[in-house]
Amino acid sequence: MSKRTIPAKLEEGEMPLNTYSNKAPFKGKIKSVETITGAKATGETCHIIIETDGKIPFWEGQSYGVIPPGTKINSKGKEVPHGTRLYSIASSRYGDQFDGQTASLCVRRAVYVDPETGKEDPAKKGLCSNFLCDAKVGQEIMMTGPTGKVLLLPADQNAPLICVATGTGIAPFRSFWRRCFLENVPGYKFTGLFWLFMGVANSDAKLYDEELQAIQKAFPGNFRLDYALSREGAKNKRGGKMYIQDKVEEYADEIFDLLDNGAHMYFCGLKGMMPGIQDMLERVAKEKGLNYEEWVEGLKHKNQWHVEVY
Ligand code: FAD
Repeated sequence: MSKRTIPAKLEEGEMPLNTYSNKAPFKGKIKSVETITGAKATGETCHIIIETDGKIPFWEGQSYGVIPPGTKINSKGKEVPHGTRLYSIASSRYGDQFDGQTASLCVRRAVYVDPETGKEDPAKKGLCSNFLCDAKVGQEIMMTGPTGKVLLLPADQNAPLICVATGTGIAPFRSFWRRCFLENVPGYKFTGLFWLFMGVANSDAKLYDEELQAIQKAFPGNFRLDYALSREGAKNKRGGKMYIQDKVEEYADEIFDLLDNGAHMYFCGLKGMMPGIQDMLERVAKEKGLNYEEWVEGLKHKNQWHVEVY
């Protein structure tokens, strides 16, 4: 796997932040929409490439806002535009074509299942995610941002990166791994360990697996990939479903050591992932005779702890 040349001028300057607002959004154009989950996945996730002409630059780990078309009636009875939804950017700043002219999103189609009938109710489907997953090539898309400074890569190019994702939480980590392994960035040469933990329901719900397998093959010394498939395959050590916290727990000793030595730990995905992870880490910390709160506070203080859940 040879690293690709990129237009290095995007390395210059400060991190872009809120370049475009709701009142003055950027108009992007849909380049492609591809379903990247298989038939047996629990829900559909799409990879969406947007033509930006390089006019809404961002750094890895940031998000864009998307304003779905149309209006709604607000609580005061006034017709107003729909609210902005945030999406983590799933490509590096150079985009999937390495030219800085596009940016990608990884969007899960939000559906509503009626708890009584167990059937999908299309009247209650998610507005923006369905707009994006159904978008046609050439369609205009109103964008804001970029936003976010929680999930940025550390300046230390040797610091191990431990990335824990569930579902579309993998998006910012794809921006990381493309920068670390696929691009020849002047002044940035990643030499650390990139360890990705990915939690999904089953193999069909894996995202970007081909790309990850290729990286694992090309960089076996710098890249580790561990899946937690909750509805398939191996059980956790208590014989229950293998959730993301169970997979991380299998390597808890190594992870605590890495963090002791300057690793950065990132979490991204649905809010619901954090309580299980925190309980597990608290239990492990206790076993090690550490005070969990102090341990996490110490990591936060040293900017080694990064959480973005939604
Ligand atoms: P909405 O229209 O906002 O609806 C929300 C939910 O309510 C849906 O599940 C919908 O089915 C349900 N609903 C609608 N009407 C009713 C009703 N009458 N009764 C009951 N339920 C109803 N998402 C991604 O897919 N990928 C990302 O990379 C991503 N990154 C994010 C990053 C950040 C920092 C944040 C904050 C969020 C991120 N999200 C991401 C989530 C995203 O912003 C949206 O919240 C998500 O796509 C749902 O928006 P929507 O417009 O489709 O649904």
